[in-house]
Amino acid sequence: MALMTGDQYVESMRKMNLQIYMFGEKIENPVDNPILRPSLNSVKMTYDLAQMPEYQGLMTTTSHITGETINRFTHIHQSTEDLKNKVKMQRLCGQKTAACFQRCVGMDSFNAVYSTTYECDQKHGTSYHKNFLKYLEYCQKNDLTVDGAMTDPKGDRGLAPHAQADPDLYLRVVERRSDGIIVRGAKAHQTGIVNSHEVLVMPTVSMREADQDYAVAFAVPSDAKGIYMIVGRQSCDTRKLEGSSLDVGNPDFGGMEALIVFDDVFVPNERIFMDGEYDFSGMLVERFAGYHRQSYGGCKVGVGDVLIGASAVAAEFNGAAKASHIKDKLIEMIHLNETLYCCGIACSSEGTETASGNYLINLLLANVCKQNITRFPYEIARLAEDIAGGIMVTAPSEKDLRDPKIGPVLEKYFKGVADVPTIERMKILRLIENLTLGSAAVGYRTESMHGAGSPQAQRIMIARQGNLEEKKALAKAIAHIEV
Ligand code: SF4
Ligand code: FE
Repeated sequence: MALMTGDQYVESMRKMNLQIYMFGEKIENPVDNPILRPSLNSVKMTYDLAQMPEYQGLMTTTSHITGETINRFTHIHQSTEDLKNKVKMQRLCGQKTAACFQRCVGMDSFNAVYSTTYECDQKHGTSYHKNFLKYLEYCQKNDLTVDGAMTDPKGDRGLAPHAQADPDLYLRVVERRSDGIIVRGAKAHQTGIVNSHEVLVMPTVSMREADQDYAVAFAVPSDAKGIYMIVGRQSCDTRKLEGSSLDVGNPDFGGMEALIVFDDVFVPNERIFMDGEYDFSGMLVERFAGYHRQSYGGCKVGVGDVLIGASAVAAEFNGAAKASHIKDKLIEMIHLNETLYCCGIACSSEGTETASGNYLINLLLANVCKQNITRFPYEIARLAEDIAGGIMVTAPSEKDLRDPKIGPVLEKYFKGVADVPTIERMKILRLIENLTLGSAAVGYRTESMHGAGSPQAQRIMIARQGNLEEKKALAKAIAHIEV
């Protein structure tokens, strides 16, 4: 079974024994939990689209290991064409969910671990790449969703992992046995962990010798003994408990982040992809971050498409669509959104082959891509709110709209153009609210800032990759400067 259907994916998650906590309670049935379910639906979409003939070219590809058809989310990029198709697939998934569909972190970690283990083995004579190939084949064959887990809690940001007052603030190896290792620690803000079959753990910073025990990469099932998760709150999350799809704004889809704790978890030898090779932690971080910064040039653009569309619909329902300033604002939103897409495509087109044979994006351009993502979605959201009007945050609830006495009053006074029922107008405004201020704002706005690394992380990479010396030499040559 190289491709699961969406329904099979849901059933496969139902069989897992995930330890999930939310609002101080253990969630016994996460799959049907009304707060969690929309995020599961977003991941399900990555399976559903792969079944649709019109999307199969983007959503599926051929495994370079087995030659079987696989979901692109489990693929190792074999060309710059593959890198571009990845971004196009993410834009499509963003358009179909208007949320974070979570599965990219696994794909990005697969590709980063693939090339890094190869180079590590070459230097250290280890056999991590072989371990990883076997694991990858398992994920491809079973069409698994994998959470790529990088971000440690980090404690005092001024101190290295080994120097923290609490040694568990970075995930580490606490015991080495003949059959494997025991790990302890946590990974924070884990996108999609509650909807993942597996978790693929990587270090979060470059390390030195003293951090050896923290330089660890491995994969375990997300319901392995000793693992538990605590779900993060989202703005307006409890609206999902009220039973009003209108008030939620995006009734079917969402994203989800959680803290995952590794409370002395056993990792068998064949699932270890780094253990102590601190000199490769930086490479793994840089590559995973690079791939995920490329990813944002796809997913956020797809969600942006929905937000732009929603703004245009809101303007139509208001009777303002023909106003020149509205048209201009929509043009500006499209311009910004497509600029982000250009970045995603550009860093893919300029990708290069690694020693292991897979393709890596152009790291400078991927970091420029993400740096723009920390800004443009905010401006797109600002313009969306401008077009939507204040009613986006002052509109009454669906219950009021449907109330026999109050409803007709609201229908009358919140009417826009005569032929659009007020309730339809409210739906589009709630969607804009969801994307800019509600639970999807985690995935569109704030994640644009901090997901795949906060802005300063990209600026460090831009400084490193920007080749300022070459630019200085160019200027000196033009100006005939000889010192
Ligand atoms: Fe994928 Fe975007 Fe979510 Fe990251 S933020 S997992 S790239 S949808
Ligand atoms: Fe993300």
